Amino acid sequence: MNPFGAPYPLVNVDGRLVDRSEAAVDIHAHVLSYGTGTFEGIRAYWNPRHEQLYLSEAVGHFERLHRSARILGLPLTFSVAELVELTRELLRANEVRGNAYVRPILLQSGAVLPVRLHDVDVRLSIAVTPVPGDYLAAAGVRCMVSTWRRAPDVTTPNRAKVVGSYVGPALAKTEAVRAGFDEALMLTVDGFVAEATTANVLMRFGDRWSTPPGTDDILEGITRAQVMTLLAESTGTPVVERRIHRSELYCADEIVLCGTAATVASVVEVDGRTVGDGTVGVPGKQLRADLWAISARDDDRHPEWTTPVYEKG
Ligand code: PMP
Repeated sequence: MNPFGAPYPLVNVDGRLVDRSEAAVDIHAHVLSYGTGTFEGIRAYWNPRHEQLYLSEAVGHFERLHRSARILGLPLTFSVAELVELTRELLRANEVRGNAYVRPILLQSGAVLPVRLHDVDVRLSIAVTPVPGDYLAAAGVRCMVSTWRRAPDVTTPNRAKVVGSYVGPALAKTEAVRAGFDEALMLTVDGFVAEATTANVLMRFGDRWSTPPGTDDILEGITRAQVMTLLAESTGTPVVERRIHRSELYCADEIVLCGTAATVASVVEVDGRTVGDGTVGVPGKQLRADLWAISARDDDRHPEWTTPVYEKG
């Protein structure tokens, strides 16, 4: 399943709009051999009624890019506000009028072979692709617990969205798909539930929702924070961040995955055991609908989560 379409032709490189072909890196670019870069994935939601495109949580994503750059010690010369403006300009230049996925990436572009993070040229690019399809099936996701574990923070910083850190999740995803599942759930090295390959996990027992804490080697998702807010608002009870055992995956009443690409997707099976009655639960379905409606401003809640792209007279 590839939900993405052909990339849009214009890319922003270091603040300048260029044709995608000019945005290519050298075969010796440091990032290609060593994964030395950091990136984001940001959704833009098209609202046909408003004839408007809304960037979702652009500030949150670019703040995380800044944190990632700081952790890796990479220079990022554009402020958060400037990055949001460059992205709006890029979406307008590409005349994007449909759901889209923005990929900012700060990468070591220098053709330098020694492994290090200092004294290598860095480039920031922002590119866009259409995203007409679902990343994970809205009709329910079948998961396996992967044999691959999340890399602990002592080997790869989990608060930075590091290019090289995606090899483990890629191995896990392929293992799951080849075994007949849709998605993998990854545990920490010491066996606690961490997250899916590119999405965070939340689970419900009765009316209480829980999710693994940031200290269990997850990437703390921006969608996770949105979902935690929406759940706290709808249930009146905060989502509990706590360590979660593998066996809880087998007896939860409901499990949802959330991430920028995934939005909200309900898990209907884990390792051959149904979750709840094996169908998409009503709370999960509602969460997904709410997130989509809020992100496209078809729902008045949380306008602070969205930034309009087109100037309206
Ligand atoms: N975990 C990982 C490893 C991810 O790659 C992503 C996607 N960025 C997420 C969680 C979800 O994060 P977000 O909601 O910020 O997209």
